[in-house]
Amino acid sequence: MSEKLITIKEVNLNNNCPECYGTNGLQLTFKQKFKETNLYKSITNETTQEIECKTCNTIIYPVMWTEDIERVFNYQQKAFTPKKPSTKLKKTAWLLIALFGLLIISGITFAVFYK
Ligand SMILES: [Zn+2]
Repeated sequence: MSEKLITIKEVNLNNNCPECYGTNGLQLTFKQKFKETNLYKSITNETTQEIECKTCNTIIYPVMWTEDIERVFNYQQKAFTPKKPSTKLKKTAWLLIALFGLLIISGITFAVFYK
């Protein structure tokens, strides 16, 4: 099984970076966790957010956030809509289900006609 964090939304923030004090490097990224196995693919409801400064290449952890960053973050988080959680079966899964169904049907047929 593989799990992947996929970027859903990126927002450039105009706030000062707490590390390098630049004003055009901060980027807020929303990611959502996707799972994939041999049988299905699913979108989970797990999301993560991260602020990174593209100027000094530093991840700005919440402990370093200024009040301004926090305010902008809260606003952006409210505006963010994650993808709906869902699960899609792959072909292999459908084949297995079909095969299983056939087995049951033939089992019933057999039981009915060859009693
Ligand atoms: Zn920076």
